[in-house]
Amino acid sequence: MCSVIDWPETWTEKFPEARGARQSPVDIDTTAASSSGSAPPLEWRYSVNHTRSVVNPGYCWRVDENGYDSELRGGPLGTDVYKLQQWHCHWGAVDGQGSEHTVDGRSFSGELHLVHWNTSKYNSFTEAAGQYDGLAVLGVLLMVGKKHTELEKVVRLLPFIRHKGDKVTMSDPLDPARLLPARAAYWTYPGSLTTPPCTESVTWILFKEPVEVSAEQLALMRKLRCGEASCGEEAMELLHNSRPTLPLGNRELRDYGGN
Ligand SMILES: [Zn+2]
Repeated sequence: MCSVIDWPETWTEKFPEARGARQSPVDIDTTAASSSGSAPPLEWRYSVNHTRSVVNPGYCWRVDENGYDSELRGGPLGTDVYKLQQWHCHWGAVDGQGSEHTVDGRSFSGELHLVHWNTSKYNSFTEAAGQYDGLAVLGVLLMVGKKHTELEKVVRLLPFIRHKGDKVTMSDPLDPARLLPARAAYWTYPGSLTTPPCTESVTWILFKEPVEVSAEQLALMRKLRCGEASCGEEAMELLHNSRPTLPLGNRELRDYGGN
């Protein structure tokens, strides 16, 4: 029996929270963002030398971290300390599409999500994932340009995780901080996971400055399959995996760090 993930149209039937008023992604209307003035800076620290797993869960590629020695705090997160759990990517069928968030209606070619959980208040990722302040996700918009050398450490493993359920170990050092843009300016708003169960537990932090990846790197992502190897030809290509934007509603969108 081959199963592929259901697409967003069907999520609200199985996951009632996907109908909520705090859903993600959203279009960032830059004129509607309120300034956060002299808020304390966002701070992060990541460990480089530990073993990571790169997996294909059937709807993206994902790098699972063991979280040792990682910390994210400050900015909209205040003094709570968040730990890196995993990071993954969204992309589109063609260049210029594929980001989940859009900026003034514009799509980008992809979006990295670094998912962190609140270790100051909760005991596990699972517990935090159900709480309104449980998760913090750093979003990085991707645009086509030069090859991203840090991301390449993952991209070159993608042929080994072509099918759903595939998993490889990465023992090469990798610095998640190198996935982030040089400029720390960002938008932030309260939102949700963008995949089922779409839990409304995420403080979103979307960097304003996109980072470059090559067209070849994006093309290799599209070669992943959303089905198991046993599905043969039915193991469909994972050409795109972005949820469409949802209304911001009366949530506050805040701007940290100017233009
Ligand atoms: Zn994501």
